[in-house]
Amino acid sequence: MFLTNLFGLKRTCTHDKITPDMDSGYCPDCGKLIKNEWYITRCACCGVKMRACAKNGEIYPQNHYCTNCGSKEYTVEKIEKINFVDINFAVLQKTEINKDELPTTTQCWEERRGGQPRLTVKYL
Ligand SMILES: [Zn+2]
Ligand SMILES: [Zn+2]
Repeated sequence: MFLTNLFGLKRTCTHDKITPDMDSGYCPDCGKLIKNEWYITRCACCGVKMRACAKNGEIYPQNHYCTNCGSKEYTVEKIEKINFVDINFAVLQKTEINKDELPTTTQCWEERRGGQPRLTVKYL
């Protein structure tokens, strides 16, 4: 992606100051809005939880095969709220949120709504 290449130099920030107990926050090192997201992996066959790990943004189970049924198929599940049971299986991913994608001001939205009635076609 063009934008990623443009700011490629800053991609090395690991956002260490965004600690796992936070939901999200601005990284003091790079200024990006970071969201903490927890994922676990499960066996696709028997549904048992498998300890997850992550590499290059990809999430996969630590074990290649399920210790319960021997399957190598797995599913990745996002956890909304981490708890002390799942934390043993979960992997934390720090996701950068693009500020441009967030709704900026309410004024912007009102303008758009206010403009809509003018779209009605008048036949003269
Ligand atoms: Zn950072
Ligand atoms: Zn299994």
